[in-house]
Amino acid sequence: MYVIAAIFSPIVSATIGITSICIAGLVPWPNYGISWLTWWIASAIAHLIFTPTILLCNKSRKVERRLNIWEVGLVLISLLLVGWVGFGYSYRVEYLLLPILIWTVSRCGKFFASLFASVVSLIAISSSVHGYGFCNNVSPNESLLLLQSFMAVFALTSLIVSAVTDERIEAQLLLMQSIENLESQVMERTAKLQQSETSLKQANLELEKLVNRDGLTQIANRRCFDDRLRIEWQRLRREQQPMSLLLIDIDYFKRYNDCYGHQTGDECLKTVAQALEKTLYRPADLLARYGGEEFVVILPNTDLNGAIIVAEQLRSTIANLEIPHHNSDISNVVTASVGITSLIPSPEQQSSTLIAQADIALYRAKKKGRNQAVVFDKYKELPCEAQI
Ligand code: GH3
Ligand code: MG
Ligand code: MG
Repeated sequence: MYVIAAIFSPIVSATIGITSICIAGLVPWPNYGISWLTWWIASAIAHLIFTPTILLCNKSRKVERRLNIWEVGLVLISLLLVGWVGFGYSYRVEYLLLPILIWTVSRCGKFFASLFASVVSLIAISSSVHGYGFCNNVSPNESLLLLQSFMAVFALTSLIVSAVTDERIEAQLLLMQSIENLESQVMERTAKLQQSETSLKQANLELEKLVNRDGLTQIANRRCFDDRLRIEWQRLRREQQPMSLLLIDIDYFKRYNDCYGHQTGDECLKTVAQALEKTLYRPADLLARYGGEEFVVILPNTDLNGAIIVAEQLRSTIANLEIPHHNSDISNVVTASVGITSLIPSPEQQSSTLIAQADIALYRAKKKGRNQAVVFDKYKELPCEAQI
């Protein structure tokens, strides 16, 4: 648009100017055409060459960052050299300035390119005035036209290459902007993904808790017990280390429910479970609700002597809670009986052996009068009591 305006607007000034001069008799009418052309070209070239330099002066700071001292030096030396040879000695080497101009546009930006074109034009004008350069040895009009066409080629080349370079820079900026947008989108998505991964992990943990916890007592449930028993059984069979198991059953609990109601019965089970859990101190020990009012304890790497001590601690923990139970035949507080068994797992045995033995021992504890711990005795034909 700027180029079009620069070419067409001087038509008005050239027409008015030359007509006025002809009317005044300063220029003969036959020279109207050549005078008009000279005026128009001179005015258009002035616009094309010098106006961009003035307009771009303020914006030059933006491109300064791209300047390299070596490049500027090289451009200046080339300009001086070609200018000196071309305009000083009248050798036809002015065309060498074109690649230098294109290099200046692409490397230094629009302002320096138009400055370069302005300087070259000034050198060309000044050398022509003094009879040097490509304009010597020709008539003044021819010399003027040659000079003007040379400057026009320079100005237009500078403007066209500047426009192309600008478009390229704009495209590069757009590309960089979309890359930045893409990067921030990727980062945003990654953050969201990490967030949902954390929530998923948390949900999985909660789910695992729900799957392995007993809803009423909040201790491990039967499923958790079964898993742990299988794992510990295999491990201790490999290591040939002892493993003990305790079955704890609250005495006369049916009567407790009958006397105090099921809700109080539930509360009693919760209190007993929490107290039992606090009594166990080894991280490997596991207390679980086996079913109803029965609890089970796995004691890995614990021999019979250790199991007897733990069983007695757990039994007395329940009694010491002093939960009233006036319908019990053996005490006026809630008590429990414990079946104890301990063995080193062997390949011939199953983990269920351990439960069966503890169950027999518990049965004996009940028969012996309850509120006591009894050890399973494998050497007797029938399981017999080993009172503590
Ligand atoms: P024993 O001394 O021989 O163990 O007598 P017991 O009454 O404790 O044993 P029995 O197996 O006859 O009764 C167990 C009772 O435990 C039956 C049931 O009412 C009660 N029970 C089982 N699960 C729950 C529960 O989740 N909540 C409540 N409140 N009671 C339960
Ligand atoms: Mg029972
Ligand atoms: Mg019972």
